[in-house]
Amino acid sequence: MKILESRPSRYDLGINILSGGHAGKIRKQIVQTYVKPGMNILDIGCGTGSLVIDAAKLGANAIGIDISKGMLVVAQKRIDRNALKDKVTLHHAGVVELDRLFEENRFDLIVSTLVFSELYAEERALALSQIKKVLKSEGTLVIATEVQPEKWLKRIIHVFARLPLAIITYLVAQAGTKAVGSILSEIAASGFYIMADQRSFLDSFAILSAKISTGNETTAKKLPLGMKPEDDFSILGSIWDYIGRWFPNPSEPGLRIIGHPDRNSPVMLTSNFHLTVRRVEKALRNENVYLLVVPSNGINVWCASCGGELNTHSVITAIKTSRINERVDHRQIILPQFSAPGIDRRVLMRETGRVGRFGPAYARNIPLFLDDQKTVFANNRADFSLIHRLEMLLAMNFVVWIAIAMVTLVIENSTFVPLSLFFWISGLILYAGFPLIPGKSGWLKAVILSVMEMIAIAIYCVIASQPVFSQWKIMIIVTTINLWLGFDLSGIVAGVTSEAEWLMHHLGMRSFGHIFSAGVFNPGKIEQNIAMCKNCRLCLLVCPKGVFDTVDKDKIRVQRQNECFSCNACVYQCPEDALSLR
Ligand code: SF4
Ligand code: SF4
Repeated sequence: MKILESRPSRYDLGINILSGGHAGKIRKQIVQTYVKPGMNILDIGCGTGSLVIDAAKLGANAIGIDISKGMLVVAQKRIDRNALKDKVTLHHAGVVELDRLFEENRFDLIVSTLVFSELYAEERALALSQIKKVLKSEGTLVIATEVQPEKWLKRIIHVFARLPLAIITYLVAQAGTKAVGSILSEIAASGFYIMADQRSFLDSFAILSAKISTGNETTAKKLPLGMKPEDDFSILGSIWDYIGRWFPNPSEPGLRIIGHPDRNSPVMLTSNFHLTVRRVEKALRNENVYLLVVPSNGINVWCASCGGELNTHSVITAIKTSRINERVDHRQIILPQFSAPGIDRRVLMRETGRVGRFGPAYARNIPLFLDDQKTVFANNRADFSLIHRLEMLLAMNFVVWIAIAMVTLVIENSTFVPLSLFFWISGLILYAGFPLIPGKSGWLKAVILSVMEMIAIAIYCVIASQPVFSQWKIMIIVTTINLWLGFDLSGIVAGVTSEAEWLMHHLGMRSFGHIFSAGVFNPGKIEQNIAMCKNCRLCLLVCPKGVFDTVDKDKIRVQRQNECFSCNACVYQCPEDALSLR
């Protein structure tokens, strides 16, 4: 729920509204029922800290972990305000990093509210096995999660009751939670037994408490099999991938076995946006590799890295759950170039032992890269070609055109054909002609086009012996459609800050539907501290706009500062902290 996470101070209120008032109540109930003074408590996915603060007020020693830095900042402020610094500690970590952070048998109570429904099955299994290690043998695990109602009637009502929430969540964040169907058996399979199972809200929320089973130890699990790639690479099979970009389109996350990889085969990584996975698999169809598909809520690599959906901790989690380190002898992992704004290679190395290496920008160049890794420098620029712009025209506007078409067919069906023609022709002019129309701003280009179209309409009126502005309604519709088409135009087809990003920045949002902000709004241009630079070439590798270049044979310098669009990738990756956005 990124609209809420981008303003974490509103998170508790927002999540409470979206969960029908359940989230807050559940946390309070857990504290009242299970927390006792002096207990050591761990809250997994602590958010803005409500539960750890309430637990600490009752005299417990509480620790919270969360994958969102923004949440932890808000939580820390609230802890300081309540003078609970000595009773509450926070860690920035994911659910499968417990064994690194804490010694065995540390906690009397481990709580997780509304986190398990955001994990996939392998993540839940690994999280439960780590919880088992750090929970005391007589300790209690409490999991509050969204679940599928067991009775079919409740299941149907729940689907319809949940639909508005799902739509809001998808529009706002392209994200959502998934009701878990098998949580009871998963908890049991991990060596726990259920003490209490309390359901509410049409049986779609469960508060489960469990304890570690004795004499029923789980045996070491076999390596997961790994999935086979999809083999339908046809255009027909991709249609929804193209036109349905407004909606999350996830592929099953996890490890894919491509060809016949052995212990020396490359390990690659991508996000779980369905179109991306298909393209990567298609590019790899003659290779022998392991492909790790990391959950990113069905969002593509670049948007997910900028928006925080694909981050260091989600990659660490994917590496651990796939147990890839047990399958291969080398320690390299090939990261998509566009993941550079979101993945900290130093933390990745520390937590998994894997050296992250950035590959080419686009899947089609991966085979070249696997043959000779030096080709990466020739293939690391973002592609804003005509074909790309036409693809984006279709992808970003098809759903909007369907909405317009439905409205016109209901209100005045004779306008359907001319309005549709106008919509796509104007879109074609703006998207295909982007580099030719004056100005950088998408709205400026849209206004220029609108003025020209209004002049054409006015000329038509004069020729038809009508007053010049007699078609004023059409002129308003024309301008409105053009302004829509130009709203995120520059961000989509040129990789520069768009009007959409400007608006999101002022509303405190990092994403809206398919539109993602790079996370930094117009902070200026890239600056290089030459004295600190060690010429490692990493910025040259990760910059999608070709801002850097080699000078004097081996020195890397900013050469095209005006091309910088503040994506933050080079700043984040520079090992010497020699780069900044000013
Ligand atoms: S990443 Fe940093 S140290 Fe490396 S070449 Fe660029 S500025 Fe220099
Ligand atoms: S120079 Fe600008 S565009 Fe290039 S990686 Fe750095 S921040 Fe991004």
